[in-house]
Amino acid sequence: MISKEIVQYIKQFIPERDKQIKEMERYAQEYDIPIMEVTGIEVMLHILKIAQPKRILEIGTAIGYSAIRMAKALPAAEIVTIERDKERYERALFYINQTGTSGQIRVIFGDALNVYSDVAKAAPFNVLFIDAAKGQYQRFFELYEPLLAENGLIITDNVLFKGLVATEEPIENKRMRQLAAKIRRYNEWLAGRNDYETIILPVGDGVAISRKRGERQ
Ligand code: SAH
Ligand code: MG
Repeated sequence: MISKEIVQYIKQFIPERDKQIKEMERYAQEYDIPIMEVTGIEVMLHILKIAQPKRILEIGTAIGYSAIRMAKALPAAEIVTIERDKERYERALFYINQTGTSGQIRVIFGDALNVYSDVAKAAPFNVLFIDAAKGQYQRFFELYEPLLAENGLIITDNVLFKGLVATEEPIENKRMRQLAAKIRRYNEWLAGRNDYETIILPVGDGVAISRKRGERQ
């Protein structure tokens, strides 16, 4: 991963977020909600601004932080986002209203693995952003990938899992060890898919960008 020093250095060039966004960052910190890390989300937003997706599907809303950031960065985009935790879902609705992004964001309350038919009504999506239960990444990918438009992008967060996917030392904590193994398997599986071209960026907690190969590639 990038050293703390470098992260600090890069952060000074990232513009101050507005008051409401900073309040969400504070809330996430206080209640231990794993919203995207600052350097990671800045890179993702930058890529999205270049790609200009019309429709985005996000798996894992939490309190709506990344959805709101995407909505503000892409005023013409529509975002469908899924969250299974009631309290976080309600918090997300609150912040979405507060930031005036409710016209762009639709939050679906439920488990992403159970709401496919509802989500499919809004397809096709130009971007699928996977940021939910780490053990299920491949299942999320396989379930929703068919809803992706030609030349769409699939972005996956936390693919370096605090660097634990790459560490040679044994991981003491069993749950962390199992999760690291699952993410490692996901990364290998992802890289092996010939219908997508994938890169892993060592920003935030590790962000994978997979580009669907077009007809002529
Ligand atoms: N994308 C958010 C952070 C999401 S944190 C941001 O950067 O602001 C991951 C969220 O995914 C958690 O709130 C968790 O409750 C939710 N989640 C995990 N597994 C899920 C599933 N199968 N379906 C829906 N939500 C899920
Ligand atoms: Mg994440």
